[in-house]
Amino acid sequence: MADRYVDCGTLYDGTGYGTIRDARLVIEDGRVQEVGPVEDVPEPDDAERIDHSGEFVLPGLIDAHIHMSGLREMDPFTWLTELEQEPLRVARATVDCRDLLDAGFTTVRDLSSKIGIGLRDAIAEGEIPGPRLYTSGLAFSQTGGHSDTHFIPHRWVTDQDPGSVVDGETACRKGARKRIREGVDVIKIMATGGVLSEKDDPRHSHFTDAEIRAFVEEAHRVDIPVAAHAQGAAGIKDALRNGVDTIEHGVYLDEEAIDMLLDHDAVLVPTLSIITRLYEHGEDHGIPPWAVRKTAETHDDHLTAIRAAYDAGVTIAAGTDFIGPELVPHGENAEELELYVEEIGMDPIEAIHAATGVAGETLPDDDVGTLTPGDHADLLAVSADPTADISALRTDVDAVYKGGELASESSEQGR
Ligand SMILES: [Zn+2]
Repeated sequence: MADRYVDCGTLYDGTGYGTIRDARLVIEDGRVQEVGPVEDVPEPDDAERIDHSGEFVLPGLIDAHIHMSGLREMDPFTWLTELEQEPLRVARATVDCRDLLDAGFTTVRDLSSKIGIGLRDAIAEGEIPGPRLYTSGLAFSQTGGHSDTHFIPHRWVTDQDPGSVVDGETACRKGARKRIREGVDVIKIMATGGVLSEKDDPRHSHFTDAEIRAFVEEAHRVDIPVAAHAQGAAGIKDALRNGVDTIEHGVYLDEEAIDMLLDHDAVLVPTLSIITRLYEHGEDHGIPPWAVRKTAETHDDHLTAIRAAYDAGVTIAAGTDFIGPELVPHGENAEELELYVEEIGMDPIEAIHAATGVAGETLPDDDVGTLTPGDHADLLAVSADPTADISALRTDVDAVYKGGELASESSEQGR
């Protein structure tokens, strides 16, 4: 029997681009039971009415690319020295989880962290507030790759690395199996160099076909997806040709790579927020000179590539690559959607779709990102219309519900 229902001024259900005026959403045991125009959905008996009849209601937002790192600085040397301070990082990340929820993010995909699994389980147990957390555990890199720490001597890395730098098909396969044994929801691999890594080049591809295929075979065997950090066109194509499900960043997508994204039904996660913030403010936040240079080199090409992918009809899921420091903090993740509207040319409703229904497609479960019967009743009520002004998702979130329960509400509204 229904336990509560939400009356909505306007409802967007995350499945396409349409909205319903004067909608009603009925919730039972934390899931959507029925949804539609008020005239078609009668008020259930003995159920609590939640009144958002003057507001815009949409599925809880999803950030398809974050890092639950518990970091507060942008200098990679600090990341290294704080690696051992796990209690400190967990304590900070616990606050980040709260901030994500307050910002309307009821689900996130953590694409590399050492502490994501523990946080995920603590949130699922109800011990700490936070979004539904899907995590890859630590990402895999080849020796000299994006998450190998190549600004320190190699032997120091091998001393402290918990099995995330792997070379050769057998090691990749065993690595994937270890992560699966740890209980990850997705496997993350670094298929090219990157920006916040000193000695590699974002345009160069990493891992051989056989290595990528080994990760993908093991992941798909247990029905979890593979996400590839992939910036150069060659590495993007290697990833797609060998069955990777989501391409992260896509900085140097060319025409052939875009065609392959379409042919393979793969999803592109642009992460424009981090590149924009690094480009505009990185130097003031202690990123090293080589990262300043790499950011400047990639910024324009990245925007051009994502525009071309959008124009070609590539499926785009919203992801920020936010990490936690002041420059890229959890809680401001909805900025990604503003960039899709301002820089890429999406309609606001397309940007919202990218952070709800489409972002849900990057996850192994199909009950988040949309508000159709059977889905988790994860939703937010916004006091201004985000289809008119997308920034409303950053400034006007009034209430956030996770599993039908009020998870956060704006203090200003004082409801
Ligand atoms: Zn990332």
